[in-house]
Amino acid sequence: MNINLRRLLIAVLLLGLLLPAVALFAKERSEFPDQYKWDLTPLYPTLEALKQEQSRFLADAEKLSAYKGKLGLSAKKFQEALDLYYRLENRLRRMESYAYMAVDSDTRVSESKALKSEIETIRTKFSGIASFIDPEIVALGQKKVNGFLAKNPGLKNYRFGLSETFRRQKHILSQPEEKIMAAAQDLTGQPDSLYSLFTNADLTQDTVTLTDGTKVKMSYAAYEKLRQSLVDSDRVLAFKTLFGQYDRFKRTLAEILYGQMKAHRFNATARHYDSTLAAALDYPGIDTRIYTSLIEAAHQNFGTFHRYLKLKARALGKTKLDYTDIYLPFTRDVSIPAPYPQAQELLLQALAPLGEEYVNTVREAFQQRWIDVYPNDGKDQGAYSNGWAYEIHPYILLNYNDLYGDLLTLAHEMGHTMHSYFSNKNQPFPTADYSTFVAEVASTFNENLMNDYMLKKVTSDQEKFYLLGNFLDNSIRGTFFRQIQFAEFELMIHQRVEKGEALTDDVLNKMFLDLARQYYGHDQGVADVPDFIAAEWSVIPHFYYNYYVYQYSTSIAAASLLSQKVLDGEPGARDAYYNHLLKAGGSDNPVRLLQQAGADMTNPAAYQALMDRANRYMDEMEKLLDKMEKAKKAGK
Ligand SMILES: [Zn+2]
Repeated sequence: MNINLRRLLIAVLLLGLLLPAVALFAKERSEFPDQYKWDLTPLYPTLEALKQEQSRFLADAEKLSAYKGKLGLSAKKFQEALDLYYRLENRLRRMESYAYMAVDSDTRVSESKALKSEIETIRTKFSGIASFIDPEIVALGQKKVNGFLAKNPGLKNYRFGLSETFRRQKHILSQPEEKIMAAAQDLTGQPDSLYSLFTNADLTQDTVTLTDGTKVKMSYAAYEKLRQSLVDSDRVLAFKTLFGQYDRFKRTLAEILYGQMKAHRFNATARHYDSTLAAALDYPGIDTRIYTSLIEAAHQNFGTFHRYLKLKARALGKTKLDYTDIYLPFTRDVSIPAPYPQAQELLLQALAPLGEEYVNTVREAFQQRWIDVYPNDGKDQGAYSNGWAYEIHPYILLNYNDLYGDLLTLAHEMGHTMHSYFSNKNQPFPTADYSTFVAEVASTFNENLMNDYMLKKVTSDQEKFYLLGNFLDNSIRGTFFRQIQFAEFELMIHQRVEKGEALTDDVLNKMFLDLARQYYGHDQGVADVPDFIAAEWSVIPHFYYNYYVYQYSTSIAAASLLSQKVLDGEPGARDAYYNHLLKAGGSDNPVRLLQQAGADMTNPAAYQALMDRANRYMDEMEKLLDKMEKAKKAGK
């Protein structure tokens, strides 16, 4: 069973892109026509209706307590309890959806904030009420539960969830031990809170003077903007200043990260896992070989990554790329505007290979106001898809700014939304939720289709060069190699702590720098990774998430493989993608689902499609560059 709030919250968070959109000319929400704002009335027609539901809900939730200690009485009782639990969970998610989206549309409205905190309280109470279910099921034993399953066909929707509970059974402890583990959770979560509080609230920010005399306070947002500056010295200054701000506290930050690693080790050991990796990957049942073969795939394909780094240096007119150049786009000569009305049409056309039903549903999303489009004052930044309102439809939050990147974000979030839509429509509620391991497949799949479509559509060499480069920057550098580099670092620091060795600032700096230099071919003269990059480990919050980032890389590789099959019209490919991914939710082990959908991530060959695409793109870019350089010379 999936009675685990933290996992659910993380799943929701993941669906957002980690790209804060910068709203330059934000307006008041009331200034936008309704058609560009999401319609929350299908969730509750009025606020009054939601208030009524809130008070009804807690009374109904109390009824669950009546089943405590009685799950084993009969197959019928067992089913009644689970039915009630999932009905309540479904209702609560609809309330949460409403409250979170109300706050996100304008975070300044105190009425919405109050509503959100009321619903959070309801969630805490409900978790407390339902907490007896998992331990009681385990105490009944697999034999008894299987007997219930055989006797009562009404339990079929719970079959997979129950088998997962028993698969992990040997890592579930005795009741008194579980009580201690639950109490310890407050402590083991502390390093993560400490890190975010320290880096968000207490870390001091330096003020620097740019080449043109402008003074800038080096917040993370300022760094993100300046690392793309065309002025070399400003860019280097941004890197040095931001990393330096963290480096000043490297002893403290190392100790906090060490604390987090020890917490992971404590959990793994207490639950009798061989390693922290095995413990972390066991929740959705991912084989640890997937993790290690992903790292192998990166190493085997360094040649492709280095080719990319050299090509970038050439495009930027440099003899060798520096780590501080990596956020520069391949070309500044073009931008592809994408106003929202045109973007909708382009996306509909790009998604045509997925068939009529898919395209019609996307059209419905546009017409029926599933999407909150433009940035307004007080609106939550970034973008996400929310698929929690099981019987209604998913919603999308955007901060659309009419740029090509915004069109890609729309395609991305639409991928999540369609995944939720088809899974919610085809799966019973208990198996509708998809695992984070497959979550980023449907989203990057759509980005691939969008990119492919645009490549065929644009006519000028510059636009083509821009699109190809944009794909390489995002997918090859940003998602594939960078996230695997982080995943490898994460594995190394965990293993060190598992061996009983300490993590100090010197150790972390050296490990991070050595690994970065290996990935970027520093010693082979491919790209320069300066010494101060050693501090980057302390800038990245993901190392606190317990083996999380590798899923970005597996997903993008799987999406590349699956979308290529669909684009090539490979027989059965589209149906497999529909049936085993889009419609499958969390009905089976996520690795098995992906395998049936056509991407076997246990096989290193699964990564080949992405590498092939990258090399194909680079072939084309080299030809375009030859042509553009020749034209430039002739013009002079
Ligand atoms: Zn996403």
